[in-house]
Amino acid sequence: MTASAAPATPASRARITAVETYDIRFPTSRELDGSDAMNPDPDYSAAYVVLRTDAGDGHEGHGFSFTIGRGNDVQVAAIDALRPHVLGRSVAEVCADPGSVNRALIGDSQLRWLGPEKGVMHMAIGAVVNAVWDLAAKREGKPLWQLLAEAEPEWLVSQVDFRYIADVLTPERALELLRRGKEGSAERARLLRERGYPGYTTSPGWLGYSDEKLTRLAHAAVSDGFTQIKLKVGADLQDDIRRCRAARAAVGPDIRIAIDANQRWNVGEAVEWTNALAEFEPYWIEEPTSPDDILGHASVRRGVAPVKVATGEHVQNRIVFKQLLQAEALDVLQIDAARVGGVNENLAILLLAAHHGVPVCPHAGGVGLCELVQHLSMFDYVALTGTTEDRVIEYVDHLHEHFLAPVEMKGGHYLAPARPGFSAAMRPESIAEFTYPHGSFWAADLAAQAQADRAAQDQSAGERAGREPAPGHGTLSEREPAADKGTDQEGDAA
Ligand SMILES: [Mg+2]
Repeated sequence: MTASAAPATPASRARITAVETYDIRFPTSRELDGSDAMNPDPDYSAAYVVLRTDAGDGHEGHGFSFTIGRGNDVQVAAIDALRPHVLGRSVAEVCADPGSVNRALIGDSQLRWLGPEKGVMHMAIGAVVNAVWDLAAKREGKPLWQLLAEAEPEWLVSQVDFRYIADVLTPERALELLRRGKEGSAERARLLRERGYPGYTTSPGWLGYSDEKLTRLAHAAVSDGFTQIKLKVGADLQDDIRRCRAARAAVGPDIRIAIDANQRWNVGEAVEWTNALAEFEPYWIEEPTSPDDILGHASVRRGVAPVKVATGEHVQNRIVFKQLLQAEALDVLQIDAARVGGVNENLAILLLAAHHGVPVCPHAGGVGLCELVQHLSMFDYVALTGTTEDRVIEYVDHLHEHFLAPVEMKGGHYLAPARPGFSAAMRPESIAEFTYPHGSFWAADLAAQAQADRAAQDQSAGERAGREPAPGHGTLSEREPAADKGTDQEGDAA
């Protein structure tokens, strides 16, 4: 992942010379890490993009979409489809105005048909736009949170696409919020560097974990300094009651326990199920139902109060967030760094939340989502809302070792990144090992699987030959369907 040794192009003429993509998958399904009521066997994956330039300064822009396995084929293809919009563009121009890349990508009329501004194409746009911000921050020599926090409010407003949200949030109001956020920001940057930003942990709560593992990890979370943990729920009510009881017993009355249904329920079921867990005092119920059901979330919120409603990790764009806020459908807004159209759209969403006075508690975990989203919350604290009250960033202790600048936690807080960029870059050796299907891990794994399949075929052929009845007495085709029985793994982790 080093820069080319070719002679440097004068900075003003430097161009983006390559947009490289990688399909990177980690075999997390084998440990049930990340298992929840909707996703029993995720292989945490990144559709990863690297922007290379001929500036000769060694800087590259890295970004990615997070997926959970086979969807990565589609996600990488979507990023590849955006290449013509970025290749050959002036590095100085795109870094001075990442919003111009955002506009070019969402404005491609033939690709826009696949959305607009939602789903696979929009996530691909987010990956590319975030890679531009990573490059811009590296060239400025600042971590992204600091670049944003020190930027002029007028420039930040120029980075936001107000189309479809201006009925609720005007550029003038955004400017007012950002100017107010600037007051005292230097002192808050100092406090951030000193204390970090509060986090909460989901590590104890995966649905596939035993009660013993849940209890052990919940104890560990409290001794690590976390003041909130989260449990996955929604597969079986009696299991959830037992697990919530175990978790509450482990952490005591003063630690917040959030619960997360990962969209499992209909609206009425969400209300009944959450109320059935009320005795354990859940702090919020997360993703109770479809992320597209704005009015459904509002109904759930009315039905489960004082338990709060949180959502956002699958909310597709700023327009749906606008409506969730208008409908008073959520108490806690969960941005995701890699779901929407990148930093520019997340600026719009942070501004919408600030305008409504709703706290933002980002979704993270996955592959690299903690690394990315910490920058957005830190900017929000330093130079927008000015507070961390009732705000926590999700933390999951998986896969950080694959990043060049992994998140650092201390006393349940994210320490402020000091290294320039968006913390998006993975280690070259991790990319080489886990690129699918030709990276060293997957090549060996697929070869072993193929060998096992051949051995199984040889064995069953041998058994058939040994048992082969005289012609006319039973046939191969009568026995074969039995081999399919019991192979449906779905729900095993739940
Ligand atoms: Mg969640």
